[in-house]
Amino acid sequence: MATYRTTNPTTGRTETDFPTLDDGQVEHILSRSDAAFSTWRTTPAQQRAAALTRVADAYEARAEELGRLIATEMGKPLDQGIGEAQLAGSIYRWYATHGPDLLESEQLDPQGARESLVQTEPIGPLVGVMPWNYPYYQVARFVAPNLMAGNTIVLKHAEICAASSEVMARMLHDAGVPEDAYINVFAGHEQIAAMIADPRVRGVSLTGSERAGSAVAGTAGEHLKKAVLELGGSDPLIVLDDVDVEHVAGIVAKARLSNAGQACNSPKRMFVPREMTETFLETVIATFEQATVGDPLDEDVDVGPLSSVEARDGVVEQVARAVEQGATLHTGGVALSGEGAFMRPAVLTGVTREMDAYWEEIFGPVAVIHSVSSVDEAVELADDVDFGLSGSVWGRDLDRAQQVADRLEVGMAYVNEHGTTLPGLPFGGVKRSGFGRELARWGMGEFVNVRLRRTS
Ligand code: NDP
Repeated sequence: MATYRTTNPTTGRTETDFPTLDDGQVEHILSRSDAAFSTWRTTPAQQRAAALTRVADAYEARAEELGRLIATEMGKPLDQGIGEAQLAGSIYRWYATHGPDLLESEQLDPQGARESLVQTEPIGPLVGVMPWNYPYYQVARFVAPNLMAGNTIVLKHAEICAASSEVMARMLHDAGVPEDAYINVFAGHEQIAAMIADPRVRGVSLTGSERAGSAVAGTAGEHLKKAVLELGGSDPLIVLDDVDVEHVAGIVAKARLSNAGQACNSPKRMFVPREMTETFLETVIATFEQATVGDPLDEDVDVGPLSSVEARDGVVEQVARAVEQGATLHTGGVALSGEGAFMRPAVLTGVTREMDAYWEEIFGPVAVIHSVSSVDEAVELADDVDFGLSGSVWGRDLDRAQQVADRLEVGMAYVNEHGTTLPGLPFGGVKRSGFGRELARWGMGEFVNVRLRRTS
C-alpha cells in the first residue's frame, strides 16, 4: 500500500500523512476525467489559454511561498525553489501564448482533391507520473501543453511531494481549470497500472527512474497506449584544450551541485584533457569543499539535504562501492552526522568500466572526473553508457566545440553551457534516457491526434 507522507529532509521529522485512494475510487476518478474531456476539449482554445495565463500569474506571485514548501518537502535551497516555481510559471505562459496557434489546422497541398486539411485534436484523459526532484517544473512540462491541447489529466506525484502536488491542483482549479479536467491522486503503483489499462485513458507520461519507466511503459504497451518517458541520465561534459580550465571547472562544479546533484541532466561525468586534469580537479574539489551544506531555507546554503535519508544513504553507498572497486575519492562522499539527509559533496576519479559507478546514474552531489588523451577518447567514453539525455562541450573555438557536440549520442547537446531548460526548447533523451519530447511545440505534439480531413 502506498504511503503519501511528507518528511522534512532537513530535520527528519514527518510533517503530514495523506490518505491514499482506495481501489473503488479509481473507477470514479476515470469517469470524472472522461466526462470532463468532452467539455474541456470543446472549450475555446483562447479560454483554455486564459486559464493557463492565470496559472502562470499565480506561480509568479507565489514563487517564494512555493519555494519554501519544497524546501521543507524535498530539500531544495530556497533560491533554487523560487527559480523553479518561476520556470514552471513561464511554461504555462509559453503554452498560453503559443498554444492556440500550434493547434490551428493546417492546409496542405490538396494533391488532386479540393482540400487536404490537418487538424490537431486532443486524444482524451492522460495519466501523468511525476518525480520529486523538480516538483513544479516536471508537472508543468506535462500539464501545460496537454491542458492547452484539450486533454484532461490524472496526476500522480511522488509520495514525498504530496503537499506540493495538492497546492498545484488548487492553483490550476483556482485559475479556472475544471476540477475534473485535472485530478491529483494519491495512488499506488497498481492503481496507476489499472488506470493505464482502462480504455478511457489514452496515454501516460512518466518522469523518473528506468525501473518506473519500464513498469509504466510496459503496462502502456500491453494496452497499446502511447507513453512518453523522461528517465535518468549520466550526462557527459567534455572540456576542450583551449578553455580557461579554472573558469570552466568552477562553473561546472556549481552546476553539478545544483539541487544537490539530483537532476536527470546534471553533468555527472566530466572528461578533461590529461594536461589540464590537475587544475580542473583542484578547482572542482575546492568548489565542493567551499560549498555550504545545510538548511535549504538558509540563504547562505548552496547544497541542501538529499530528498530523503534513504536517497542519501544510497548515494553514499554508491561512492563507497566505487572506492571499494578501486576508484579514488578526493573529498566528501560521507553522510553528515545528526539529523537530516545531508552528505558532503564527493569527487571521484579513476572510475573504470569494471566499476558500477561507471554505468550507474549517481543521483546526488558527486562529480566523476575522467582524464582523457584526445577528443576522440572523450567522445567514445561519453557515448559509452546506456543513457543519452544531454551532454555538453566546452571550448573557445566554437566551430570545433560544435563539431564535437554533434558527435554526442544525446537528445540535447550544449556548447559552453549545460542543461539549460526553457519553455521554447525541446527536452528529452535517447537510449535508456527515454523517448518522446517535452516542452516547446514538440511537447504539444505527443498526445494529440494529427487528423487528416480530405475533401474531393
Ligand atoms: P521513481 O522513478 O521510483 O519515482 C518517480 C515517480 O514514479 C514517482 O511518482 C513514483 O511513485 C513513480 N513510480 C515508481 N514506480 C512506479 C510504478 N511501478 N508504477 C507507477 N508509478 C511508479 O524514482 P525514485 O524516487 O525511487 O528515485 C530513484 C532513482 O530514479 C533516482 O536515484 C534517480 O536515479 C532516478 N530519478 C530520475 C529522475 C529524473 O528526473 N529523470 C527523477 C527522480 C528519480 P512513488 O513515489 O509512489 O513510488
